[in-house]
Amino acid sequence: MTQSTVIPFYGTDIPNDAVINTCVHCGLCLSACPTYRETGLEQFSPRGRIYLMKAVSDGRIGIESDVFQEQMSACLNCRACEAVCPSGVQYGQILESARTQIHNAKVDGTLPPYTASTTAIRSVVFGQLFAKMSLFRAFSRLLWLYQKTGLQWLARKSGIVKALGLAEQEAILPPMSNTFMVPRDQVYPAIGTPKARVALLSGCIMSTAFAHVHSATIRVLQRNGITVVVPRNQGCCGALHAHGGELDSARNLAKQNIEAFGASYDAVIVNAAGCGSTLKEYGHLLHDDTAWADRAAAFSATVRDISEYIAALDVNTADLKPLPMTVTYQEPCHLAHAQRITAQPRALLKKIPGLTLIEMAESSLCCGSAGIYNVTQPELAGQLGNRKITNTMRTNASVVVTANPGCHLQLAGGLRANGSAMKVLHIAEVLDMSYRGAPA
Ligand code: SF4
Ligand code: SF4
Repeated sequence: MTQSTVIPFYGTDIPNDAVINTCVHCGLCLSACPTYRETGLEQFSPRGRIYLMKAVSDGRIGIESDVFQEQMSACLNCRACEAVCPSGVQYGQILESARTQIHNAKVDGTLPPYTASTTAIRSVVFGQLFAKMSLFRAFSRLLWLYQKTGLQWLARKSGIVKALGLAEQEAILPPMSNTFMVPRDQVYPAIGTPKARVALLSGCIMSTAFAHVHSATIRVLQRNGITVVVPRNQGCCGALHAHGGELDSARNLAKQNIEAFGASYDAVIVNAAGCGSTLKEYGHLLHDDTAWADRAAAFSATVRDISEYIAALDVNTADLKPLPMTVTYQEPCHLAHAQRITAQPRALLKKIPGLTLIEMAESSLCCGSAGIYNVTQPELAGQLGNRKITNTMRTNASVVVTANPGCHLQLAGGLRANGSAMKVLHIAEVLDMSYRGAPA
C-alpha cells in the first residue's frame, strides 16, 4: 500500500511558526470575523484558518488540501481578528505568506496551475496594470471612453455584461474622469506659516478615478500650513500583490517607492487606508533583505494616514465653515484594524460646525470589498455588502464618509442599487468642503 504524501510549506515566505503558535485558540476573535459571522462555521473563522496553517506546518495536511486553499481565499484579510486578539497574533503576515505559498506552487507546477482565464487576469492585473502606472492610466482612459461614449449603456442594455458574469463588478465601476494626478514632483505650498513638508502617495485608482480626492487632500493640508509634494517615479503601493499572494512583486514595488520618495520629507501622507497600511509594513516586507531592511523600516516610520496626520496637528479650526449635514462613518478595515485609527476621523468630523455624526451599527465590519474579493468570492462579498448597506441606510444620514477607494466603490454601488440618494465622500472631501464653505 502506498502512503499518501502531503506537500509542505517550502521555499521562501513560509508562514512563521512563531506567529502561528502565538494563537492560544481562545476564540475571542470569532465574533469580530465577518466570514464567521456570515457562516457560523469554525473553518471560516480566524482560529479555524490558523489551525489549518498549523496543520500544514506540522505535516498533518499539505498545501494541496482543498479546505486549506479555500479558506486562505475566503478570508478577507480585513484583520479584524488581529485588532481584538489578546495574544497579538499577527494574522495578516501569516495569511499573506500562506497565500504566497499557494501562488508560488501553482506557478512552479507543484500544484495544479490556475485556469487559463485566471492566469491571464493575474498576469494583466498584477503583472501589467498595477505594476506600470502608465498602463494603468491608459486603461483608466479606456474606461472613461467606455462610460462617456455610451458603450457602457449599450453593454448593459444588450445584456453582454450579464452574459459575461460581470454585472456586479461592472456596477461598481467608479464614474471615471479624464483628469489624473500624474506624479511629477509638483509642489503645493503651505498657506500661512509652513509647519512641515510632506510627500503624497498618488497611488493607482486614487490618482485616476479619485484624483479629485487628492486635490481635496492637498487643499486641506495647505490650509493646515503643510507644503505637499507629489514625488515622481512612485507607483502602486503593492497592496493588491501582497494580499493576492505575490509578495515578491510587492517587494519590487516597495523598493521603487522607497527610492522615489527618498528621505527628505517630514511625512509620507496616504489617503487610501489599504495603501497606508501596506506602506507602513514595508519594513516587515523587506526585513530579510539586508540591502533594504533599514531603509524600508525608516520609510515606514514616516507614513501617516491623512486623518491621523491632521488630527495630530494643531488643526486649523478657525477656517472651518458650517456644513449643516448629517453624516455617518464607515471604517475601512485597513484603517481601523491594520492601522488602529478609529478616533481621529471621528474627532475631525466633530470639529466641523453644523455637521452631525450618526454612528452606524457594525461600522468596522468589512463591507466585502477587500481588494478583488468581490471577484474571487462574489457570494460572501454580496452578503457583506448588503449587510453594510442596510446598516448605512438605517442611519438616514445624507452622506457616508469613508477613507478607502474599495469601500467607497462598494458603498456607492450598493446605495445606487438600493435606490438611495445618500452620497459617499472621503473624509478629506468633507474637510475641504468646510474649509471652502462649499454647499453640502
Ligand atoms: S487569533 Fe487570537 S483571539 Fe483568535 S483564537 Fe487565536 S489567540 Fe484567540
Ligand atoms: S482577516 Fe478578517 S476575514 Fe480573515 S480571519 Fe481575520 S477577521 Fe476573519
